[in-house]
Amino acid sequence: MEGKNEKNVLYAGRLVLQEEILHDVAVVIQGGKIEAVGPRSEVQIPKDGRQWDVGDRIIAPGLIDQMVHGSHGFKAGVSIEETLKFSKVMIRNGVTSFLPTVSFSPTVEEMQQSLAITAQAVETGSPGALMLGINFEAPFLTRAGKSEWDRYPPAGYYAGKMARDPSVEELRDYQQAAKGHIRLMTIAPELDGALEVIREMCNLDIVPSIGHSAASCVEARAGIAAGAKSATHVYNAMRRQDHREPGIIEAALVSDEIMAEIIADCVHVFPSALDMAYRCKGPDRLILISDTLKYAGMPNGVYIDEMGREIEKDDEKAHIPGWTLAGSISPLNWNVRNMIQRVGVPMGEAINMASLNPARLLGVADRKGSLEAGKDADLIIIDDDINVEGVMIEGNWMFKEKVIS
Ligand SMILES: [Zn+2]
Repeated sequence: MEGKNEKNVLYAGRLVLQEEILHDVAVVIQGGKIEAVGPRSEVQIPKDGRQWDVGDRIIAPGLIDQMVHGSHGFKAGVSIEETLKFSKVMIRNGVTSFLPTVSFSPTVEEMQQSLAITAQAVETGSPGALMLGINFEAPFLTRAGKSEWDRYPPAGYYAGKMARDPSVEELRDYQQAAKGHIRLMTIAPELDGALEVIREMCNLDIVPSIGHSAASCVEARAGIAAGAKSATHVYNAMRRQDHREPGIIEAALVSDEIMAEIIADCVHVFPSALDMAYRCKGPDRLILISDTLKYAGMPNGVYIDEMGREIEKDDEKAHIPGWTLAGSISPLNWNVRNMIQRVGVPMGEAINMASLNPARLLGVADRKGSLEAGKDADLIIIDDDINVEGVMIEGNWMFKEKVIS
């Protein structure tokens, strides 16, 4: 692998900037950072740089997946080794940084253990996509199940009976177990004590996100007023839309104070509902996530999950037959493609939704999320179908196909 201090110059037909697509571009990279970027005719090309020409392909910022539980058989938080292997398989999807996402275990101790393991993996340093911290999607979530909410239970895939009442003490213990690495956490704002916990999350440097919730619109807005900055996979695992008794979906879509995550796999959310979220939130407040479990990237078939349930995985989805979806199987670059090809979002905006927007939410936009001089050289080489042909993280090629030196 080329060294971090080597000077690299990349040429490409197109490059995704924050506000526009540039044509016939050059990028100069040194010391893991972008030194210069712009039209080839305007960039000063160093004489000693190693030159790479990616032809008519596109250079885009590396994708940031803030909600991803697993992939290719690997799951976050099982062991340090498995979490590190998980970081490696993320690269092929164009993900250059992510939040390994820890969810429910039956006991507090087991959840603390998963957080501690994931924190150790974060501190070990990733051999693949960088880990910016941990997303903790548990345990202060709704218990409202299928019987109360017809087809789509707010408790979602998780067994509602494992949900716990919000507690500031318990939150502090989780963040301590995670050695301070929890960066994002979902909470149902309608639960007793939730608002106090949301306020404490802000003190502990955790971005609060409302979701897995049966909240009314008023309850959701109280969560936002208490400090929630995002909504977790909007539409899914939420009280359904109702124009006379609006709930958390309506609050998330029309509150400009918060971002909204969305699973743009076209299975969890139909394209016109993706379009509605896009029209409500605009290009700066929608965040694409993959929400994949370890079944993504695995052969089709039936698997047994940790709770002994049968998970059926096919080309489109993983689900518990007769019950609900079990996470997505669509990696983040596919979701970017769906936003472009099935919703009609401009390519630059769709990519920002999976790079710059999560970087802004997570407070790392000063160094990640877009291709600007001074920022980390986290970039991907893609074609028009968002197939990933090259990935560079902090100036190092993690893999490159069809990238000619
Ligand atoms: Zn979820």
